[in-house]
Amino acid sequence: MSRLAIWIKEKITLSVLFSFMVFIIFLSTVVITGMLFFPVHVLGLFDDDGTVLTVLILISCIIIGTTISGFASRRMVKSVREFIEAIKRLAAGDFSTRLHLKNPPEYRILSENFNRLAEELGGIEILRTDFVNNFSHEFKTPIVSIKGFAEILKNDDLTKEERDEYLDIVIEESARLASLASNVLELSKIETQSILTDKQKVNVGEQIRQCVLLLTAKMEKKHLVLQLNLHDYSVSGNKKLLNQVWLNLLDNAIKFTPEHGTITIEMKRAEGFLELVFRDTGTGIVPEAIPRIFDKFYQGNTSHSTAGNGLGLTIVQRIVNLHGGKITCESEPSGGTTFIVTLPFEG
Ligand code: ADP
Repeated sequence: MSRLAIWIKEKITLSVLFSFMVFIIFLSTVVITGMLFFPVHVLGLFDDDGTVLTVLILISCIIIGTTISGFASRRMVKSVREFIEAIKRLAAGDFSTRLHLKNPPEYRILSENFNRLAEELGGIEILRTDFVNNFSHEFKTPIVSIKGFAEILKNDDLTKEERDEYLDIVIEESARLASLASNVLELSKIETQSILTDKQKVNVGEQIRQCVLLLTAKMEKKHLVLQLNLHDYSVSGNKKLLNQVWLNLLDNAIKFTPEHGTITIEMKRAEGFLELVFRDTGTGIVPEAIPRIFDKFYQGNTSHSTAGNGLGLTIVQRIVNLHGGKITCESEPSGGTTFIVTLPFEG
């Protein structure tokens, strides 16, 4: 289509089109009525003072005008009808519905926005279904396991070691359930949040040191070496939420690093932002999985042998984004993993 044609189409807005239609209706009515009555007048078929002829012309104008308007409005209303039909299908749950109205430009904009809405709703529906499926699976697995081991534990012939081992599994699976419940609650809370609440000055260096203290026992159990390069830099944020970011990242590093591995936490200040680096010498992540690790319920180890429910990094990313920052991951299988968090920083 030539640029002139596109320009003309863009300029024919709904109001221009409407005025043009009204003009055409008037013109057609006048022309048709004129064509009908001009010969009558010329031939002098009505031999009166003109009253009857005037009344007849008026009545004809009304009939002809209404008929032409009826036909013309069908064309205008056709798009509105299409829109109503599409809305009905969308309301009935058909998220594949799309509109392809092109002219006038207002209809095209309406069409584009409708299609975007349908796409978004479709995406939400898929996410919702996925969430329910994943949640049910994550919820069912520990319950089945607890039930199974509780039944075995009823057996009086078990040795003390066996009993302890099975009780440990029951305790571990209960903890997994509790963590699933609190993670889902936390996620739903921060997902509905669009602005950060309880903002205050948070000393990030000090906060990470506290998290390290909290997880020291876990690290010692695996004989992990910890290298810290922290400073007392502060950012403006929600203390509780930021604490959760550091705890999740450090906990993952511990979880996915084999015995005698090394975990490094570094802090760097740059123009306008603060960079936190969590590096480990652990199992690493295959390149195809990296884009998925922030998805809800994504777990690299599908055997679920490492305690977790795949919500930790989703929560971390959401919290970092709420703070106006971002999180990235660099990793290679068996080459360790690095998470880099950048937060806006004014100091
Ligand atoms: P969870 O730890 O509960 O499985 P997360 O959302 O915290 O869930 O992490 C999602 C997945 O990302 C993990 O299952 C794991 O495959 C991968 N992952 C996260 N952190 C690391 C890490 N430090 N090293 C290797 N893999 C990791």
